[in-house]
Amino acid sequence: MPSTALVWFRRDFRLHDNPALVAALHDADRVVAVYLHAPDEEAPWQPGAASNWWRHHSLAALATAIAERGGRLTLRRGDSLAMLRELIRETGAQSVHWNRLYEPAIRARDEQIKAALKADGIIARSHNSALLFEPWSLKTQADQPYRVFSPFWRNGEPQLVNARTPEPLPNGDWAGHGLDSLPLDALGLLPTIAWDAAFADHWTPGESGALERLDAFVDDAVNQYRAARDLPAVPGTSGLSPHLHFGEISPQQALAAIKARGPVSGQAAHFIRELGWREFAHHLLYHFPQTPEQALYRDRFGRFPWRRPDDYADDLRAWQRGQTGIPIVDAGMRQLWATGWMHNRVRMIVASLLTKHLLIPWQAGAHWFWDTLVDASLASNTLGWQWAAGCGADAAPYFRVFNPQLQSEKFDADGAYLKRWVPEVRALPPKAMHAPWTASAPPPGYAPIVDLKAGRERALAAYATLKE
Ligand SMILES: Cc1cc2nc3c(=O)[nH]c(=O)nc-3n(C[C@H](O)[C@H](O)[C@H](O)COP(=O)(O)OP(=O)(O)OC[C@H]3O[C@@H](n4cnc5c(N)ncnc54)[C@H](O)[C@@H]3O)c2cc1C
Repeated sequence: MPSTALVWFRRDFRLHDNPALVAALHDADRVVAVYLHAPDEEAPWQPGAASNWWRHHSLAALATAIAERGGRLTLRRGDSLAMLRELIRETGAQSVHWNRLYEPAIRARDEQIKAALKADGIIARSHNSALLFEPWSLKTQADQPYRVFSPFWRNGEPQLVNARTPEPLPNGDWAGHGLDSLPLDALGLLPTIAWDAAFADHWTPGESGALERLDAFVDDAVNQYRAARDLPAVPGTSGLSPHLHFGEISPQQALAAIKARGPVSGQAAHFIRELGWREFAHHLLYHFPQTPEQALYRDRFGRFPWRRPDDYADDLRAWQRGQTGIPIVDAGMRQLWATGWMHNRVRMIVASLLTKHLLIPWQAGAHWFWDTLVDASLASNTLGWQWAAGCGADAAPYFRVFNPQLQSEKFDADGAYLKRWVPEVRALPPKAMHAPWTASAPPPGYAPIVDLKAGRERALAAYATLKE
């Protein structure tokens, strides 16, 4: 009787450099690939709508890739442990392999499943596929988790020489054809309101799309990364974030592609440093699992005088819809809505406006991003929002309030990004595009919801109360 291993795909939707798959093919004569849909087990952070759109298409790509190798991806929905036990019974599998995830609810669930399967006499093994460093592997000299990026990366970067060499897909037999499997559409991942029309113009979810994007970036944009990465009108960044989030490529593959060009210096090192921020985000989420809801420095920020929901509801809606009357903010929020992604520089600007000029709690912004970003990651989104609000690890100090007009003038000097997303300002002279309220004839019906100077002063006054 041939031995069988289950490979439980979760958010590692690739066949190359997939440690769980490699281990399963190594352990057993044949593997059965399964995806178990159980979003409620991720509560309160079940994936949002844009993320679900990505997941649908990524699962379709994974199922095709497995079918091309003679296998089949079995899709089921329900309680993960119960479904694994059912599949073990149906296939006679002796082992289950999966790649680790680090969200608190998923970690707790996985620990229970591992213990239960082991108690059943099944080999249950988890592997690292998503990170360059396990979150527990880097510690300060005092044996504590890091709260500041620079020392974290000073410790981590030199250790990249030991990073896993990406593993090719090993040979092996795939099984699973006789098993019941839901059709992908039955998972109900696609949105019921059709706001995703343009997503497919921007993205190709799946392993092939990820590898193409990595190749294109490494061939070209990486050479100008340091300067171009801050310009939202330019495709100066890799666009890899959703692919990394869904595990369609590993950070080890990105690192190897960069190293294959030659010695890593300058521009490329800067890109790898950004991958380091992703590692840092996971490190923080692992060690401070309360941070998606609470400021890291809760003792201080717990009493911050945010506005109340009934007071800020209209402003929040205007921000979400890209109708603040502040062009760079509206451009970012419209880019997010249309494409499921926003440029990093603009994420910082819109988050700063929300939490400072509008005095709306960062959690409200984080929830909107969670639902609308195709790369929504609990680790990186939490870090980004707490950074912007000035209440997290290595955060910009609260009193450093971004001026969106100056940011716009600096990073979108010719207004190319604004022209693309904010038709209201297209006809204005370049200088006035960044601050249409200063134009001799401001565009009718397009006015800022907050006065930038007054908003800044209100934010600083609110911050001052923390010191009292
Ligand atoms: C308020 C706010 C919210 C954010 N929410 C998310 C999120 O939900 N998911 C997410 O992946 N990123 C988030 N980011 C970080 C960053 O904006 C995106 O990772 C980046 O814009 C993705 O584009 P890229 O792949 O072209 O990046 P590149 O510049 O090509 O960077 C390469 C990779 O490094 C990682 N990276 C880059 N910058 C950061 C960063 N600041 N923090 C963590 N990882 C980083 C990403 O995985 C990215 O794909 C957020 C930033 C802010 C300010």
